[in-house]
Amino acid sequence: MSECKRYDEASQRAYTARLRAWTGGAETPPLAFVDTYGCQQNEADSETLRGMLAEMGYAFTDDEYAADLILINTCAVREHAEMRVLGNVGALVHTKKAKPGQLIALCGCMMQEPEAVEKVKQSYRHVGLVFGPHALPRFPQLLYEALEKTGRVFDVDEGDNRIVEGLPVRRGEPPRAWVSVMYGCDNFCSYCIVPYVRGRERSRTPENILRETAALVADGYTELTLLGQNVNSYGKGLPGSPDFAGLLDAVCALPGDFTVGFMTSHPKDATPRLFDTMAKNPKVRRHLHLPFQSGSDRVLAAMNRGYTRAAYLGLIDRARAAMPGLNLTSDVIVGYPNETEEDFEATLALIRRIRFDNLFTFIYSKRPGTPAAALSDSVSDATKRERMARLLAAQKEIRAGR
Ligand code: SF4
Repeated sequence: MSECKRYDEASQRAYTARLRAWTGGAETPPLAFVDTYGCQQNEADSETLRGMLAEMGYAFTDDEYAADLILINTCAVREHAEMRVLGNVGALVHTKKAKPGQLIALCGCMMQEPEAVEKVKQSYRHVGLVFGPHALPRFPQLLYEALEKTGRVFDVDEGDNRIVEGLPVRRGEPPRAWVSVMYGCDNFCSYCIVPYVRGRERSRTPENILRETAALVADGYTELTLLGQNVNSYGKGLPGSPDFAGLLDAVCALPGDFTVGFMTSHPKDATPRLFDTMAKNPKVRRHLHLPFQSGSDRVLAAMNRGYTRAAYLGLIDRARAAMPGLNLTSDVIVGYPNETEEDFEATLALIRRIRFDNLFTFIYSKRPGTPAAALSDSVSDATKRERMARLLAAQKEIRAGR
């Protein structure tokens, strides 16, 4: 990677100051419209982008036609989300026509996918700036270049994977706040694009997380959520190898009246120690989101999930024993390539046994570049839809019987 792609705080501050001088010279501050797709990590990233924009002197609007800058933070997890993004970006041709000086920028996971970037390059020529999650800390420089240059700016390199602390954040009003504790994922579930677009796992130090959390509590935020793609593997590679249970304990030990939750947990790395830590800390919300994805051992192995059905059930039993009345939610994928009726029945049986409080259900979405995308699939779309309908009906029945 070239030197110029590395984050350098002083130079980004200089770009922020240049943009601030430019926006400060205008009669009214330029307006930014920031739109976010996808998960809580993307919401958190958008709060950082808004913080940077506020430092550069931008104000915010919900009106795409009034905006001088439209910034769309995209999601790559499912094809449907990508189609929505592209549809909405296509429609921005009209806002750009009405306001030719408007800059349209795309960022987020989809912009780390070569095929999507190529599509934007060729077919969405009204988009002036594109950057992936790795380039986010260099947003001041990229925005400056996009405004200064006549050409379009693309920065979709993988970056140096480092964590940048101290970026400005513009959050919503209390009580809720997100705190990222780690980034990336090392799990490579066969269907998932996240490790390819967000990079390898890296954790923030406990000191930085605790400092941010304490400041949030002092600012009146009382419902905190610790975020990571796989929070249960927090701490790998940090000095002293802290774990997530220890971090949760330390957050709860901070003074103040607040609650704390976390997402997302991976069953492979969830431990009894985590459940015991949750149980003994009244500040931890009694909610566990533990995605199981499939009730079939054959499909779990094909998905590279790293646990069995029996291990998952054992975890749930252990968590419930530690926290009676625990609110349990999960994610499940229907129609993974070559899922048999027997595999699907195993998923139905699992949800009937556990009786989740809520279930987030998805039909398998093929993500180019993942191992699962190369599989041929014997299951028709009609069968997948029919299984989804049966799954939803079963979950409805479970909820009605509570
Ligand atoms: S744990 Fe699996 S599903 Fe979750 S982000 Fe990582 S690779 Fe994707």
